[in-house]
Amino acid sequence: MNSRTLERASYGTLIAGVIAALAHALVTSSVAGDVLYGVGAVVVASAAILSARVNTPDVRVWGGLLIIGVLSAASQVLADPDLGVRAHFLAEVLSLSVQVVLVLGLLVVAQRRIGREPLGVLADSAIVALGAWLVCWILLLRPLLETSTDGAATVTLRGIALSAAVIVLLVLATLLFGDAENGPVVWLASGAIVASLIGDVLWAVHDAALAEIATSLRNAPYVLALFAAAATLLHPTISNLAAQGPYQSARPMAWRLVTVTSGLVVPLAVFAITDAQDTRDRVVRSTAVIVLACAVLARVILAVRSNAVLQQRLVTSAQTDALTGLPNRSLMLEHVDTALRTAWRDGRQPAVLFIDVDRFKNINDSLGHAAGDDVLMAVAGRLRVVLPDYCVVGRIAGDEFVVLDPRASGPGDAMLLADRVLESFHEPLALRQGDVFVSASIGVSTYRPSVTNSADDLLRHADTAMYRAKESGRNCVAIFDESMLESVTQRLAVETALYRALERRELRLVHQPIIDVSLGEVVGFEALMRWDREDGSTVSPAEFIPIAEETGTIVPIGAWALLEALTHLSEWIAGGWCPRDATMAVNVSPRQLSDPNFVNVVSEALTRAHIPARQLWLEVTENVMISQPDQALAALTKLGDLGVRVAIDDFGTGYSSLSLLQRFPIHRLKIDRSFVAGVADKPDARALVRTIIAMCDSLGLDTVAEGVESVHQLHTLGELRCAKAQGYLISHPVPPEQMASTVALLSDIGAWPRIRNPRV
Ligand code: C2E
Ligand code: MG
Ligand code: MG
Repeated sequence: MNSRTLERASYGTLIAGVIAALAHALVTSSVAGDVLYGVGAVVVASAAILSARVNTPDVRVWGGLLIIGVLSAASQVLADPDLGVRAHFLAEVLSLSVQVVLVLGLLVVAQRRIGREPLGVLADSAIVALGAWLVCWILLLRPLLETSTDGAATVTLRGIALSAAVIVLLVLATLLFGDAENGPVVWLASGAIVASLIGDVLWAVHDAALAEIATSLRNAPYVLALFAAAATLLHPTISNLAAQGPYQSARPMAWRLVTVTSGLVVPLAVFAITDAQDTRDRVVRSTAVIVLACAVLARVILAVRSNAVLQQRLVTSAQTDALTGLPNRSLMLEHVDTALRTAWRDGRQPAVLFIDVDRFKNINDSLGHAAGDDVLMAVAGRLRVVLPDYCVVGRIAGDEFVVLDPRASGPGDAMLLADRVLESFHEPLALRQGDVFVSASIGVSTYRPSVTNSADDLLRHADTAMYRAKESGRNCVAIFDESMLESVTQRLAVETALYRALERRELRLVHQPIIDVSLGEVVGFEALMRWDREDGSTVSPAEFIPIAEETGTIVPIGAWALLEALTHLSEWIAGGWCPRDATMAVNVSPRQLSDPNFVNVVSEALTRAHIPARQLWLEVTENVMISQPDQALAALTKLGDLGVRVAIDDFGTGYSSLSLLQRFPIHRLKIDRSFVAGVADKPDARALVRTIIAMCDSLGLDTVAEGVESVHQLHTLGELRCAKAQGYLISHPVPPEQMASTVALLSDIGAWPRIRNPRV
């Protein structure tokens, strides 16, 4: 039998139960009533047997329900008014046993489902149960004690059973108020219990002579209870009744509030409008009210306390970093603020170290984010170990840690501390993935009343100094001084202005001719960018290209430069101002090479300018091959396939290995001007240049000497058989409109021999 069928059978049984109960209430014939009751008992028994076979519920649940069923049925039979006092006494014993079993069973279920706030739930349930008991006492128990014809023992038992029913109510309320998601089976079981409690109440009302209630009506809830119990047994989720179960995402606070409030208001109203009948009544009523008041008081205290705890937890979680458990930026600022406020008292100069893990992005990219997290936790751990206890360590962003030394007495102390931190990273971090070495760049700032106005200032200054440490090659410490602020402000202004430079047409290209050393003819040009700012100043590319590179603006700017340079070349060729096969060299930054669209940009520029790919040289620096070898290799190979050639710019100043020259599709080396400067008069420089040229020869690479400034240099380069040269001697970079005259001047036969032969 599948669960869908069982579910249907369960709900069908419940509906049958409602109909049977209604029929029982309406039909006064006792025979018909007994038949319905009997059917109910048979249904429960059959459901129990079926459930045991197909649902395999928890043995305790199943056994408990079975005992309750048998005991209730027996108690009902014995409670027949026609039977004697003894039978009634036995019926009460059985009824009490049912309550006890119920309480025990419910306790098992409730303690697993009560959830995150057990005390609060218990207190709420206690209020409801106590209130119900007070009403029960005033309206039922006390009159029952006076009017019942049964013996005192039976009546007392009845009172105890009714009170036990209140405990059932308490545990039931606990279950329903709890955090667990209450599936249909919990509601069905609760329905059965509540129906039977209603039956008990109706009987008690009748027996206490409060109202004349027909037997058929009094027993109807029990019929419903039987069917509901059967429905509970049949429901397929009964197997999970005693299981822990998931918690509800939203807690049903509203209905809980309504129930608890009515559980408080109704008994107090009943208490107020009824008078105590005798001393015993007065004592019981007063005691009940006092206990109720205590429960309410406990509830209020609990609510206030749990609110305070919650608030504290919220504050803590808002101020700590979830990964490392260290204070976050806002808490660090509070700590720094407190340190600054008390600094004047003992003449201290609180210091802040701003620590940034070097190349953390590489760790994340190569080892994955989980390893990245592990590194951050290990760094946090290392900082805690290496720093004195009075220092506060915080993590304020990704890989940025901040240390506050509230007791520093000057920059010297702070530098010592920073050195200690740097040194601590000489030992590898032991991660799950293996040992990892990291280094850090540290910025230090100490409190000085003349420059530090706030905690934020101190942190910002340390941050600025950290950037200086990064610029100085990482893995070092830099201490803040005011001049850094100026350069930061200036840099920020440049960044913003550069962003708009392209659309404001503030960028332009100048070109420097490249000549064939042996022929003295112009064979190509290098395009160099210039930025004319609004204020009339011209910014050097050495200054703005690194910023454009860092901010990513280089991608659109570089694309523009490519097209512009090729368009110029195309115009010069068309104008007959330079040879048809003259080449154009364009500088390319690493960021451009890692742009997936770069190859398209290049080929589109070639097409638009009608320049064959072989006439374009792309100049990259050696560092491109080291910092992102795979991306660079992929892009350069694709460009090589197009026919575009690649030159290594400033060769000899980077850190490339000769093996990279073999791996990468390179066609030209440009000898850096620092070597060319000494080529004429420094034997070492000359030896180096000679070696580079020899290497290029054997590898089949073209050579260009950069920065040729004197006739001597050019002469020596000629002797060393350097293929090409560029430099101020030949021509400064010139605007495109001056190129025709520049090339014409350079081709002037009269001018050239003077260059080739310094003595002429
Ligand atoms: P680079 O590619 O090595 O360019 C040569 C630099 O040396 C140019 O400086 C040029 O004006 C200068 N120079 C040429 N001849 C001589 C000489 O005889 N003596 C001296 N002392 N210098 C000489 P510039 O124009 O300031 O460019 C600097 C660097 O900026 C370039 O070095 C290049 O790396 C970069 N750059 C320039 N334009 C661009 C561009 O459009 N894109 C990219 N990514 N970088 C560019
Ligand atoms: Mg260049
Ligand atoms: Mg260069």
